[in-house]
Parts: sequence; C-alpha cells; structure tokens
Amino acid sequence: MALKGLDIYKLLPKTNCKECGVPTCLAFAMKVAAGQAGLDDCPQLGGEARSQLDEASAPPQRLVRIGADPQPIEIGQETVLFRHEEKFHRPPAVALKVSDAQDADALRQAGAAFRALEITRVGQTLQPDMIALVNDSGSADALRAAAAVLHGELAVPMVLIGGAVDPLLLAATGPLAGARPLLFCTGDVPTGCLAALAQQAEAPICVAGDLESVAGRVEELAKEGVREVVISPGGASTARTLDFLTRTRRAALNKKYRPLGCPVLVFADGDDPAAAALDACAYVCKYAGVVVTDLWDGNLLTPVLTARQNIYTDPQKPVQVEPKLHQVGEVTPLSPLLVTTNFSLSYYSVESQVEASRVPCYILAVDTEGTSVLTSWASDKLNPQTIASALKSCGAGERVEHHQVVIPGLVAMLAAGVADESGWEVLVGPKEAVGIPGYLKSHWTATAT
Ligand code: SF4
Repeated sequence: MALKGLDIYKLLPKTNCKECGVPTCLAFAMKVAAGQAGLDDCPQLGGEARSQLDEASAPPQRLVRIGADPQPIEIGQETVLFRHEEKFHRPPAVALKVSDAQDADALRQAGAAFRALEITRVGQTLQPDMIALVNDSGSADALRAAAAVLHGELAVPMVLIGGAVDPLLLAATGPLAGARPLLFCTGDVPTGCLAALAQQAEAPICVAGDLESVAGRVEELAKEGVREVVISPGGASTARTLDFLTRTRRAALNKKYRPLGCPVLVFADGDDPAAAALDACAYVCKYAGVVVTDLWDGNLLTPVLTARQNIYTDPQKPVQVEPKLHQVGEVTPLSPLLVTTNFSLSYYSVESQVEASRVPCYILAVDTEGTSVLTSWASDKLNPQTIASALKSCGAGERVEHHQVVIPGLVAMLAAGVADESGWEVLVGPKEAVGIPGYLKSHWTATAT
C-alpha cells in the first residue's frame, strides 16, 4: 500500500457511520494505510472514489492467472526483493515444452511422461505445472489438433507459443476455449493485434523484448483494457535473462514503475541440458513467473523443483510435521522407537531411511517448533524434559514393550538426562539419518532380542 492515511481519508465518504467497525473514517483510513483493513470493509465506498483508490493502491506487480477454475496458476503480485524481508508468495510455474510437429501418439506419450514426472520431498508432491505447446509446424490446424490432444490428456494449464496470431487464436478459442492458456506470439505484430487476441481468447498474454519495448507494449495494452500481461526477455542469454528479471522486479517494487510490474516468462533450454537445469534454478531463485524448459529428464528437473520448493517456503515458518508418535510400516510392540524433531526435513530424512531399512519403526517427532535436531538442542527445545514429556504424552509406554528409545547421535549428551527423566533405556543412534538402516540392521536387532 503506497498511499498514506490522509490520501485515503480524502476519498472516503467521511460520514463516520461505523459500518466498517471503526469509529471514524479517519481511523479507518489509518488502518487501511497500515495494511490492517481493506477497502472492501467500507460498504459506503464506491464509484469514482473506489476506482481511484483501487488504482492508487494496486500492488506494484500485477497478478496473472493462467488456466481456468478450479485450479488456475497464479503468478506475480510479489512484494519483496529478498525472501528474508517477508517471503515469496507465488512459485513460478514450470512449463515443459512440446512441439506441435508431432503426431497424436507422440503427444499422448508426452502426456504420460509429464504425469510420471512427480517426486515427493519432505511430505510434498513436486511436479511440473504446465505444458508449453510450441507452434513449430507453423500450421494453425496442427497447433489446434495438438492442443486438443494434450488438453484431453492433461488437466494442466498451457502456454501457447507461436510466431503468428491466428494459430494461437484458433487453438485458444477452439479446443482450449475457456481454458485460459497464456498466449505468447513471438512474431513482430502490432500491439493492437495482441490486444485483440487477448480479448477474443479471454486469456492472458505475453509480450517479449527489451525492457523499453515491453514497458511500451504493457502501457499500450493497458489502454486497450488488457491487464493480464506477462513480459519476457525472449530467448536471451543467461546473463541477459537474469538482468531482465532483476531489473523488472526492482523497477516494479523500488520505483513503483507499473509498466514493468508484470510477472516474467523465461526460457531455460538449449543443447546442454545440465546448463539448462542450472539456468532454470537461477531463474527460479531470481524472480521468474514462468520457466519454459525442455527438461523432460526427471534427474535434471528435480533440482529445479527442489530449488523452487526451498525458495518459496516461508523463512519465518519452518515447515513442520505433526509432533506425535508416527508409525512407519507394520509396527509391533517390539518395533524400534526413534526420536527426532518435528522439523520436516529432519523428520522425513529419518522416515525415508526407516523405509529404506524395511524395519517397521515408531518415530517420535518431538515438538521443537519446527527446528532441526542441533538447532533445537542449542535453543533448549530438545532436552531431556521435552523428550520425556513427548514420550509420556504420546502414550509410547503402552505401544512398545521394550522401553528402549533411540535418540539422535548428534545429541548423545542427552542420553543420561533422558533416562533419568523418562525411566526409559536410552540408546544412541547414528549422527546422520543415512546411518539408520545400518544401525537398525546391526545394533537394534542385537539389543532388542
Ligand atoms: S464504513 Fe466507510 S464511511 Fe462508514 S465510518 Fe467506515 S470508512 Fe467511514
């Protein structure tokens, strides 16, 4: 919110009717300026005053929706340059390129390959988001047919990329009618034609060029009433693409320069797939809204999805699992009981190694407010009292007969204290989760039987 309280107050009805729940219009204006209330909270505000306030208070980067309800992809409307200032809000969409110069069988295989690109990490499913269908054939019929096949195979939003307007329009108003694909015409066409394309297709549009030219196009499109616009540096080098990404974000957020306040589509492709994966990771970290890539190899796509997952978590809220006694596999009263914290990365590192060991286990995730083993030990959130308390509150004593608990090797110094506090026999496990299978195989079986 760039407006000050008094600027807002000037446009309010000034009736002090209290319907917003605040005693006066001035107090309400101050709350809006502080981000503690929204304009919607004043039922008396409408007409020109509302339009003026909406325009003046619009976020510096606009929101663009690609795809149709119920699950459109939303990109943009980011509020900070650096993640530690607040958080990044909308992860970039990863769009895998498909050429329309393929027959229907090949397109169906691409659909199946897309569905198979799914990984699970710290309890979350990671996968690409979109198909970027490229009009390599130059034929409107081929693009329309390919769009129909892929739309039937995959319920994911699409980017349509082509050098001419007509094929994009025919596909967007034909098989993709209502699906709101992002339309990216790479040819040198007048802005008026792009505006007409966006309006007829009722879909967002992407314009490419250098900073000056895309800013001009965005302003012209705004005059035509087209606001859902994505900008792109096109197929620029890695350095130029990063320059484009950082300059546009700075211009929008620091200078409040609205023509560059649009999410950015970039390309991470080329002859060297490893280099493309590195580019994609860099673009994810530095502000991309859509990354179009041909990384169909899961081994190369995984780091991109992982980087995105890491960057778009809230740095002030550690990702947590429920603090409780978890069961992995067909546990029995003789199964090992391992202690870790409720930090997701810690918990899932342990869980994945337990699964790898094929030894059913209980895992006690102690509530450390989502911090890791060493961090929670250093801040005294993981100590003999919290471990003993967690053992008691989860009813572990009724679930396992052996009354042995394995604590992480990194906090071996807690062993005696946990034994005193809980009355359990305390075993010291490996320092790293990767040592769990070997530990369970050799040590646990020796002590539990
Ligand atoms: S509802 Fe609107 S007009 Fe009424 S007091 Fe609140 S801000 Fe003023």
